[in-house]
Amino acid sequence: MSMADKHKSALDRYLRLPQPEEKIQCSYVWIDGTGENLRSKTKTVNFVPKTPKELPIWNFDGSATYQAEGNNTDVYLHPVALYRDPFRLGNNKIVLCETYKYNKKPTETNHRHSCAEVMEKGKDYHPWFGIEQEFTILDSDHHPYGWPKNGFPGPQGPYYCGVGANKVYGRELVEAHYRACMYAGVNISGSNAAIMPAQWEFQVGPCEGIEMGDDLWMARYLLHRVAEDFNLLVTMDPKPMQISTHQTKGGNSKMGDWNGAGAHTNFSTKAMREDNGIIEIEQAIDKLSRHHIRHIKAYDPHEGKDNERRLTGVHETSSIHDFSAGVANRSCSIRIPRDCAEDRKGYLEDRRPASNCDPYQVTEVLVKTCCLNE
Ligand code: ADP
Ligand code: MN
Ligand code: MN
Repeated sequence: MSMADKHKSALDRYLRLPQPEEKIQCSYVWIDGTGENLRSKTKTVNFVPKTPKELPIWNFDGSATYQAEGNNTDVYLHPVALYRDPFRLGNNKIVLCETYKYNKKPTETNHRHSCAEVMEKGKDYHPWFGIEQEFTILDSDHHPYGWPKNGFPGPQGPYYCGVGANKVYGRELVEAHYRACMYAGVNISGSNAAIMPAQWEFQVGPCEGIEMGDDLWMARYLLHRVAEDFNLLVTMDPKPMQISTHQTKGGNSKMGDWNGAGAHTNFSTKAMREDNGIIEIEQAIDKLSRHHIRHIKAYDPHEGKDNERRLTGVHETSSIHDFSAGVANRSCSIRIPRDCAEDRKGYLEDRRPASNCDPYQVTEVLVKTCCLNE
């Protein structure tokens, strides 16, 4: 048994200690200044919170999270969504928070604030979203989990939705995360192994409005946290393995041709879901075609820089430079699922968002472009 495993079994004894009824642990969770990573810290409250509004505003040291502005290092945490805690159980909670500066303005990476305003404006459209979150499991040495330490797995083909110990790596983590999400109250709707070995996907949705961003960020928090228990790392990098070549006597030999990771965003309005909604879907696609660059800028945390490595036009992606749409076509920016084309209603899939996107930015710009004409 490794030292880490010994520590984990020792912890179990203490987690079984009876917890005073009026002492509830609340993990406040927030997005840090990178716009990608999450932070958390715990506070005891002496009541069982039923809504985030009942919980106190808190603060943290922004100079340690890339969130300080000059000498104003205090950043405020405003509770916005409440989840059951699958680690501490009982009445303990995980609390998703927005971050605000000393002057009460949202911090640079608080994209929830403007997203919530847009969702309020667009609420009569009843926008639904379903995000397919792809991610890659890494060993503690940062090498993809299950890959040979001094080489590469066989070429892609057998791994997508794979079954068998030589096809998929890390299923235990994925299964544990699925249940943790369900327990917490995240609207998780599925999971499957992705095309690159050690790469997986889970889906959250359909969620209406601001809930999409809330539930996806909480699902990401739970994934990183569950992975701690397995001594594994998870990366949302949109292209964790570049095509790599190495020099051999015979010339260059390819060491693999690996898919990137996205966050396909499925989107519909009430009108799209009703009979003949296909007309609405086509109108939305027309609007999207006129705002390609604006969307690309909102689809990763670095205004398209991260997605440049992924949206190459191969590996089931479209080129970052072009907008395209098609029925059942996975090389397009926008795909209309085959069954939606047949039913003449349903939803569209925007395949452009990168796996490390901020779902608040993605859902906000979709509603702005397709519903509000802003
Ligand atoms: P794919 O076929 O691209 O792999 P998935 O099955 O992985 O698609 O994910 C589809 C996602 O679309 C799910 O999260 C699902 O909840 C969501 N979804 C289904 N219907 C709608 C709808 N009408 N509007 C928005 N999202 C939807
Ligand atoms: Mn999928
Ligand atoms: Mn998809």
